[in-house]
Amino acid sequence: MIDSYRHKGMRKNMVAELVKKGIDNPVVQKALEEVPRHWFLDNAFLEIAYENKAFQIGCGQTISHPYTVAFQSQILEVKKGDKILEIGTGCGYQTSILVALGAKVFSIERHRPLYIKTKALLNKLRIRARLFYGDGYIGQASFAPFDKIIVTAAAPYIPDPLLEQLAPGGTMIIPVGEGKEQIMTLVKKTASGEILKEEKGAFSFVPMLQNKE
Ligand code: SAH
Repeated sequence: MIDSYRHKGMRKNMVAELVKKGIDNPVVQKALEEVPRHWFLDNAFLEIAYENKAFQIGCGQTISHPYTVAFQSQILEVKKGDKILEIGTGCGYQTSILVALGAKVFSIERHRPLYIKTKALLNKLRIRARLFYGDGYIGQASFAPFDKIIVTAAAPYIPDPLLEQLAPGGTMIIPVGEGKEQIMTLVKKTASGEILKEEKGAFSFVPMLQNKE
């Protein structure tokens, strides 16, 4: 896997654009500058991998926009050693950003071919994350509780198992809605277990699949 000076330059420009859009956390900026987004895409996208666009990654799914990845990563206030559950591994780009931020990542994917492809890619890149082929509506109870949960597909509602698997004092970021746009929702669980929600604007994700297979 090659990461040329040209690609590094394109990445610097991408981050400069994200800063203009409000990504002001230097740790998140550094992670986005470090992780070569083009490694997670087919060669056909080599020249355009750093544009603020979503691209096809197979199984009718798309990689999230760099801004969306940066926004969700920033809002989670990831700390080194945080245990994070990700719903929707996709191509593994967001997973790798979380790993670059020092998190222990557990990530679930619903499409088996994507799960297999991304597992092989992360192994090859020596990016350490626990990947699961499973259903994000159920979460991953055997590894709960999680300090943070990030959902990278549009959820029609906030699944109860995810609320249960969030640690007291934990944070979840989840796009909620069934239309073309969803409301990015920040969910906090207080130390006493109370659930607080804040809306953080409109975003557009592929739907979180229900009852597949
Ligand atoms: N974080 C990804 C975004 C991928 S798009 C990236 O950086 O590339 C959303 C992903 O969620 C898709 O790969 C899709 O297959 C997956 N997905 C959809 N429904 C799901 C579900 N119920 N459980 C787990 N993953 C799901």
